[in-house]
Amino acid sequence: MTRTEVVDFMKVIKAYYQNFLVEDYVVDEWYKQLSKYEKDDVYEKFEEHLKGDYQTQPPKLHYLTKYLKTPEEKEKAKQVPYLVACNLCGKFMSLDEYNEHYDKCLAEEIVYREILREGTDIGRDELKKLSRETLNDIYKKAMARSKKLREQMKRSYQ
Ligand SMILES: [Zn+2]
Repeated sequence: MTRTEVVDFMKVIKAYYQNFLVEDYVVDEWYKQLSKYEKDDVYEKFEEHLKGDYQTQPPKLHYLTKYLKTPEEKEKAKQVPYLVACNLCGKFMSLDEYNEHYDKCLAEEIVYREILREGTDIGRDELKKLSRETLNDIYKKAMARSKKLREQMKRSYQ
């Protein structure tokens, strides 16, 4: 709200409450607090006050600004957290969680493929029940094998 809007607003309050002060020092304080907010929101809050339990007294400044959002805060609240899907398992998550998840998911995927390669019939759910050591062993084995494979490929290109 601009200073003029704040003064106008205070005059409206004065129309309802004769003892309400619209002096400079009060205007300064109200302007300081209300300048962050939008006029319509503040008026709406005043309407609520007129229907509320404390309608016999002029509204308090902290009541008028309570739960009000500044335009920036409103904009922020509108933004939905950006979700991405893991391209390995298809699970949706926020971007923050993605990197950690992806590393874990990739390791799981490698372990899973290694197990399948060995011809063991095991579901992904069962995979989660295996101990960390077992998973680590399979993972290391798979990595060692793929390293060997890469070296072989490199050699065949030369
Ligand atoms: Zn995943």
